[in-house]
Amino acid sequence: MAVDEGDARAGGLPTIAGVTADLDTTPEATVTGPTSLPVRPELAGLEPYGAPQIDVPVALNVNENPYAPSEQVVADVAAAVADAARGLNRYPDRDFEALRADLAAYLLAESGVGLGAEQLWAANGSNEVMLHLLQAFGGPGRTALSFAPTYSMYPEYARDTSTAWVAGRREEDFSLDPDVARATIAEHAPSVVLLASPNNPTGTALPTATILAVLDAAAQVPGGCVVVVDEAYGEFRRRGTPSALELLADHPHLAVSRTMSKAFGLAGARVGYLAASRELVDTLRVVRLPYHLSAVTQAVARAALAHSAELMAQVGALRDERDALVVWLRARGLQVADSDANFVLFGLFEDRHAVWQGLLDRGVLIREVGPPGWLRVSVGTPRETEAFKDALVEVAGL
Ligand SMILES: *Cc1c(COP(=O)(O)O)cnc(C)c1O
Repeated sequence: MAVDEGDARAGGLPTIAGVTADLDTTPEATVTGPTSLPVRPELAGLEPYGAPQIDVPVALNVNENPYAPSEQVVADVAAAVADAARGLNRYPDRDFEALRADLAAYLLAESGVGLGAEQLWAANGSNEVMLHLLQAFGGPGRTALSFAPTYSMYPEYARDTSTAWVAGRREEDFSLDPDVARATIAEHAPSVVLLASPNNPTGTALPTATILAVLDAAAQVPGGCVVVVDEAYGEFRRRGTPSALELLADHPHLAVSRTMSKAFGLAGARVGYLAASRELVDTLRVVRLPYHLSAVTQAVARAALAHSAELMAQVGALRDERDALVVWLRARGLQVADSDANFVLFGLFEDRHAVWQGLLDRGVLIREVGPPGWLRVSVGTPRETEAFKDALVEVAGL
């Protein structure tokens, strides 16, 4: 299954007033549950999540960093793995203390926010971090809440932890109205609120005032409520857009999730992490499986983190590429959602599937995702972006 992100699926889960994006219709094995298998009823008939993994010349569908690690990074990762291999007869550091310290140092450099290593947590992708959060703070009789359209994995974490799922709504322009957010939280009294910022699939970053409104409403939920700001695309935010990391010091019920899969260009390594109060992190330690982060994973992540300065320069180039793509699409009369991420949601197309297919026929794979009529393209190398533009001009007759 792909290291992916993306489309929303209804998944048989209750939603309210949500914008339900398209179904991923990839033909995959379905959990049909022959009568001899006691499949959980909520899993019956479901397909595994994932974007189509198609071998194409230009893959701009899962928001990866288009640049492979440099030869220097490859050499350092290989050396670190060799070193780790010498100790593979032993279990790894269960608390991955060195990695947590490295992640804290990285966040200080990236966002200017100083955190203690004990405030960091990591797992096999931020997807697993999120699952830990739901295992610790969700569960039967509890509710997780987000605002659609948003990341379609959220309802799956809820389902897998037997947490009820509620999708509130974003506005037409994909922003989140603080008053709507407050009212929705007051109505449903969730124990977990998930906010993607920048949001997937729209690219929308939330202003600090909105996050503060959510934190305030969450603090009033009887029994408590954890607010998770998913900053998987945080490094791509435009200049002047703050990170929710800045709010950690005053909000012990806030967790800010990050990943090495996107800006860091390490999707294949599966490393995600979060920053939060020590108390919150210590709760996650209770639900994680023992030794969940392998010695190899820890070594790879640390070796890559040592090159973060080089990476940040590359992120700057991708941001510029994104901004230029937004301008180009708008100049051709298309609607484009403002993006603080490394992808762009654009439209509107009467038959978006035909456009998606036309691009694929020309070797360019993008993502059919988001509200009806919209398509999402990841920012690639300049050459990949050119290929995308050329194909789109042909297919959409721009
Ligand atoms: C890609 C993505 C993630 C990161 O997933 P990993 O498991 O870290 O690869 C998390 N949240 C959103 C919204 C994403 O799009």
